[in-house]
Amino acid sequence: DSADWDRETKSICPFCGVGCQVSLKSKGDRIVKVDGIDGPANEGRLCVKGRFGFDYIHHPHRLTVPLIRRDDAPAKGLNVDPGNLSTHFRKATWEEALEAAAAGLRGRGREVAGFGSAKCSNEEAYLFQKFIRQGFGHNNVDHCTRLCHASSVAALLENVGSGAVTATFNEIENADVAIVIGANPVENHPVAATYFKQFAKRGGKLIVMDPRGQALKRHAAHMVQFRPGADVALLNSIMHVIADEGLTDRQYIEAMTENWEAQKAHLEGFAPEKMTGLTGIDADTVRAVARTFAGAKAAMIFWGMGVSQHIHGTDNSRCLISLALMTGQVGRPGAGLHPLRGQNNVQGASDAGLIPMFLPDYASVLSEEVREKYAGLWGDEGGHGGEIVAEKGLTVTEILGAVHDDRIKAMYILGENPAMSDPDLDHARAALAKLDHLVVQDIFLTETANYADVILPASAFAEKAGTVTNTNRQVQMGRPAVPPPGEARQDWWIVTELAKRCGLDWRYTHPRDVFAEMKQVMPSLDNITWARLEDEGAVTYPSLSPEDPGQPIVFADGFPRAGGRARFTPADVIPPDETPDAEYPMILTTGRQLEHWHTGSMTRRATVLDAVEPEANCSLHPSTLRKLGVAPGGTVRLTTRRGSVTLLARMDRAVAPDMVFLPFAYVEAAANLLTNPALDPFGKIPEFKFSAVKVEAA
Ligand code: SF4
Repeated sequence: DSADWDRETKSICPFCGVGCQVSLKSKGDRIVKVDGIDGPANEGRLCVKGRFGFDYIHHPHRLTVPLIRRDDAPAKGLNVDPGNLSTHFRKATWEEALEAAAAGLRGRGREVAGFGSAKCSNEEAYLFQKFIRQGFGHNNVDHCTRLCHASSVAALLENVGSGAVTATFNEIENADVAIVIGANPVENHPVAATYFKQFAKRGGKLIVMDPRGQALKRHAAHMVQFRPGADVALLNSIMHVIADEGLTDRQYIEAMTENWEAQKAHLEGFAPEKMTGLTGIDADTVRAVARTFAGAKAAMIFWGMGVSQHIHGTDNSRCLISLALMTGQVGRPGAGLHPLRGQNNVQGASDAGLIPMFLPDYASVLSEEVREKYAGLWGDEGGHGGEIVAEKGLTVTEILGAVHDDRIKAMYILGENPAMSDPDLDHARAALAKLDHLVVQDIFLTETANYADVILPASAFAEKAGTVTNTNRQVQMGRPAVPPPGEARQDWWIVTELAKRCGLDWRYTHPRDVFAEMKQVMPSLDNITWARLEDEGAVTYPSLSPEDPGQPIVFADGFPRAGGRARFTPADVIPPDETPDAEYPMILTTGRQLEHWHTGSMTRRATVLDAVEPEANCSLHPSTLRKLGVAPGGTVRLTTRRGSVTLLARMDRAVAPDMVFLPFAYVEAAANLLTNPALDPFGKIPEFKFSAVKVEAA
């Protein structure tokens, strides 16, 4: 009822990378309703999170004053009651808290590391990486892309010269075949999934490939439920068939690519009959899938964490890129490569340089030309100015290891929750407890904030202005609908004030000042201005003129690599880091559920979402439950070499009999107590999708 609100504000859903545009209906200081509006990615649609997941911003647990750890607080641990913070923290003024935060960071150079956030805006990401680089003189700054698509980006940068998607997901409208592999869009990118279903309804052939069954299976021409970790074996065998049967696009390969001969020779060893033992997929199915894909007029490939979160995640993506290149499926309407981004702004935060090896727009910290540019731009602002050290920084997972090695002693964490999101949580939490000084900036007392020395109360998406970039490369304007509660402040302001107290002469007065500076170093933002975004709501990059809404498809005429050609990089089969054995005979895989977002800090405080999915759970095949003597809804204990959790077991035929699926949003049965920290050597992403596990009745 429109009588229930008196203002409408257009903004962007804060959850997944689809980037749905929303209308926030508010009355006074409260948002009372959210509707979908006609954004380029959602055309009015929203999923359950976007529509009903907003009231966490008014939750009584919101941090409303700066906090400093009490001198007499108990030892650091996961031991603070979010409803009673006074046992561990005392209230402070902003001046006192900022000074305490700065005092523990100032002058510590390489002992400091920072985690920024893919939930924050582009401007906040840019400021955060600049603060660490300029303030402390090194590149130890990263964010959760490391746990998400870092391996996909490594493969894309290597082989097509750009880490972003080559075509928007909406381009599926122009495709006749699409692969969805290692992704469960109905749960994790629900509005994108509506386009996939419509595509199938129109007669498009959907090929779903995943070790778990999923709802999209009902719409699929082929459902390929392969063995966990067998991605390279499966994809190489599909490519083998295409090469062997002469179904490649020879003209495209010749004109647009390099290293085909090596790739072709490599594929000879991957006949589908030879790979069946690894993949669990019979040769006829592999041949049928290969012919369907190679026979497409226009085909897209979508992938998610099921591809990226392996020690061979980069190899998995290399295979997908090769599959698209050998069939000429890049750079045309309805064709392209699309890693479905997780967080709402993981694309934008990466573009803004919130990664340890790249400055904004993936400019290498090792390039002298790049470093000269920053010396000119940032040179006279104090600290280390624009002196970018020619050395890649440490990644998220490496930083916590470096705390244990006494190389990192102080951290600034904005909006990330490594005490829940990192693999092998006991190790990660022990690192947080060991830090001399931890500054956490967030909206709730997250599990990570339990370990903080200073807590800076920040703003939720609906309380601030800022741009975000979705999975489609669409830069969109987020707008404030309500003020932050109490003394909580906007994140750009907090980073700026902290930077000033660490000796930096920053003069930003609004996120638009930051955006203007970003445009000086980010060619991707050419023709995109703050005023345009305020006016138009979204512009896709690249935008070729001030009037161009942006290019949904890129690389029609060549790739941003030396010589303009994309590259084939052959990939070999590498077994998972940890294989099941007599003690840990099953396979653990982790992921998200529709109703909960990542570590649960927001969605478990959203009334409707928590009511729909209130309890930690895992999924097991009916035959496994029978063997364990556990009824559906009973309790099981999952144990790996790193830890153990006890939780409710659901019956799910989509999970193979030797697998267990475990969502990672629940602190009471934290999935990452169990996960394997082994890393992909290129993307440095952990193997969240494969751990050896023991499952018992509890
Ligand atoms: Fe939000 Fe993603 Fe759902 Fe859209 S699909 S409403 S962006 S969670």
